[in-house]
Amino acid sequence: MKSDIRVCSAWREAHDSPIYTLADSCPDCGADTENSAPAPFDPNDPHGKYRRALKRRRR
Ligand SMILES: [Zn+2]
Repeated sequence: MKSDIRVCSAWREAHDSPIYTLADSCPDCGADTENSAPAPFDPNDPHGKYRRALKRRRR
C-alpha cells in the first residue's frame, strides 16, 4: 500500500512527535520528508530498520 502522507525525516531530533505533511520538506524545521507508510513507530514494521538507517543519513 502506498501513501502520499510524508513525515519529517528528522522529527526524532527536531520534534516531540512525527510531523506529517504532504510536502517534500518539513513545514516546521525544513528537513527532508520521507514516505510515512507504514508508520515509522510501528513495532511490526518490516521495513523499520531500513527506515531508521535512512534517518541517520540526514545531512
Ligand atoms: Zn521537521
